[in-house]
Amino acid sequence: MSATLKPQTANAPAKVKDAGLISLAKDGDAAYNAKSGELLLLPGGAQSQREIKERLASALFEGAGLQRVDCGNDEAVFSLAERYVREWQDRATAYIDDRGRDLRILGWSKDTAGAWQKTEEIMAAVSGELERIPGGEGSSFVEEAVPDGRSFSLLFPCETGSIGARPGFVCKSCGKPLLADSPFSFRSVQPGRDDPPEDLKKIETPGANTIAELCSQLGIDVRQTLKAMLYVGSDGETAGSRPVASFIRGDYNISMNKLSRWLREKHGLYGIRPAEKQELAEFFGEVAGYCGPIGLPEGVIVICDSSVRDSKNTVVGANCPGYHRVGCCYGRDFTADIADIALNSQGIPCPCGGSFEAVSMREAGTLRFGFDPHHASLEIKTTTPLHDKKLSYQDREGTHEYQAVWGGVISTERILLEIGRAR
Ligand SMILES: [Zn+2]
Repeated sequence: MSATLKPQTANAPAKVKDAGLISLAKDGDAAYNAKSGELLLLPGGAQSQREIKERLASALFEGAGLQRVDCGNDEAVFSLAERYVREWQDRATAYIDDRGRDLRILGWSKDTAGAWQKTEEIMAAVSGELERIPGGEGSSFVEEAVPDGRSFSLLFPCETGSIGARPGFVCKSCGKPLLADSPFSFRSVQPGRDDPPEDLKKIETPGANTIAELCSQLGIDVRQTLKAMLYVGSDGETAGSRPVASFIRGDYNISMNKLSRWLREKHGLYGIRPAEKQELAEFFGEVAGYCGPIGLPEGVIVICDSSVRDSKNTVVGANCPGYHRVGCCYGRDFTADIADIALNSQGIPCPCGGSFEAVSMREAGTLRFGFDPHHASLEIKTTTPLHDKKLSYQDREGTHEYQAVWGGVISTERILLEIGRAR
């Protein structure tokens, strides 16, 4: 005679903030090892976790043609693909590998367009199946800028302190979710944008080498300033470096990931970092705190965030220590390349008319393509970077290459916590 261990309790486990874990523990389906941070699944939780895994794996096979295998590591999955790609082609290039509570997704496409198509199929399959699992509703895949590819996170809105929670933003009106580095080109609303254009004037601002001091000296709103952020990007071919001056509204911050991606695409640069004091002097002159978009030296790459596009009558550095320019209008006084390079933040406007507020979101998976897809994947780590291994085969027509690697991971543990949370 056997009976399932299901130690239900009215008490929440000590020191646990995760609503999903609390509910699973109360139901006798999971316990928490506070020392190691491990989620211990009792029979009920283990059963639910297996069900989630089965459902997602079936959906990924049906919707995206991913073959479910059990290889244990990425190198072994690659060796399967290598072995069978010539005879079986597409059927041998897309896999889900069973890794305990994670579904490891890994595959190869002929080019980036193929990798994007596969990633879309995978996202649709996962989202569609989650909608059908009670408690799995409300997830979204949110893109995050990375320097050399595309990356998507599977997110659920959750309480702060939940397992796997990370900071994000949600539009209060339409519910659109964003991460800090998500591509999102918003139009900033600058006070005084409808005022007539003023004359551009150079004024003395002694000691105003910070935005805060500048605003206090001139009695202006931070949204009427543009700030310069100065970087150095390196060009791998010649190991040379190039100065980069980026401009953004004074109260916003630059996303290094978005800027890196733009510099890589537009100028073939990577390895961007903030300019050091000596480099500032060498490239820009003695203008620390007073750098502005008008009259920059030759050879500097200039990029403005989209928040600069509609700027009018702003205060900018004069490229001269102790001086700023007032009445600066984009389009009339300077122009430069414009791109979305801002970190998303609380209060930014949404095209729907609403604005974004800070929230926590539980990350239950990541998908990436276009480069080595391993580094930021939840717990999945690998010793061999697979992006160096091109999958290819030869036949009478020549060599067939699968150059674009894609992959990611879906955590059934995090989805189980969401399902527990909805109980
Ligand atoms: Zn909205």
